[in-house]
Amino acid sequence: MSGAAQRRAHLQAMGIQAWVRRDGGSPLAAGEAAQDAAPPVAGGEVLEAGEAVVARVAKPQATAAHETAAPEAHVDEQPLPAEPPVPDVRSEPSASPREEMPVASVDTPPGIDVDALDWDALQATVARCAACELHATRTQTVFGTGNRNADWMIVGEAPGVDEDRQGEPFVGRAGQLLNNMLRAIGLQREQVYIANVIKCRPPNNRNPHVDEISQCLGYLQRQIALVKPRLILVVGRVAAHGLLKVDTPLGELRGQVYRFCDTPVVVTYHPAYLLRTPRDKAKSWDDLRFAQRVAEGRDGGGGQT
Ligand code: SF4
Repeated sequence: MSGAAQRRAHLQAMGIQAWVRRDGGSPLAAGEAAQDAAPPVAGGEVLEAGEAVVARVAKPQATAAHETAAPEAHVDEQPLPAEPPVPDVRSEPSASPREEMPVASVDTPPGIDVDALDWDALQATVARCAACELHATRTQTVFGTGNRNADWMIVGEAPGVDEDRQGEPFVGRAGQLLNNMLRAIGLQREQVYIANVIKCRPPNNRNPHVDEISQCLGYLQRQIALVKPRLILVVGRVAAHGLLKVDTPLGELRGQVYRFCDTPVVVTYHPAYLLRTPRDKAKSWDDLRFAQRVAEGRDGGGGQT
């Protein structure tokens, strides 16, 4: 499939109307076109979708710092809030190192060396973990799912209500959107390994606390060591901040290569955020293609390692 056709498939899979260029060039997401919609002008690219005709100048690759993720509820069955205003992060302080957050002291529960556990022992340890207060309100732990020999690991934030109920990460509408995103780049959900930085649902879907992430991160670290993926795709601000120990706006984390456990890390939007903010869906295509290149060793990203 050509790059343009692949992108079009991605946009359609995500429920985005693709605007088709008369000259056969790359399609644009309706959201993109709408943002830039203006009467046809000399020098602009004339596009059409149905009867609508707009003029647009192509955007550069999405690595701009003006994109940011709004807070992401990981309960995708809650009524979706009104589209949040996009803060002008150009006026925000630049990226700053976060207070050093120790990786989980891989002895939770006490006396267990998490780094020495195999899959079964690790899963059993997580299932009975009470290392942080989240154990008190969970229905069950959400360990992770997928191919334990995967090239790609998808890392999200924390279980929501569906995940807490079913014991599997990324189910519900956000999970469906994640599946569509993966499918657009030729990956089935079963081919990747999916996990969260936090294994228990925070009550009322609040963001996990730093100390909770710190307590739990050793489990994810062991999962990564066992899977040995070629790439970790981190979805969402909270997961990115927890894993990378930064508080940089998500928009500034995109388009860079980081490392966790010696594995390349690429950051993109959380599907739950994309459900609330469809105008950013098209940007996820750039992120996925970038991640593909990184996974294949074709792009080092020029980011932090
Ligand atoms: S969130 Fe992680 S550290 Fe906290 S109780 Fe659950 S498994 Fe243990």
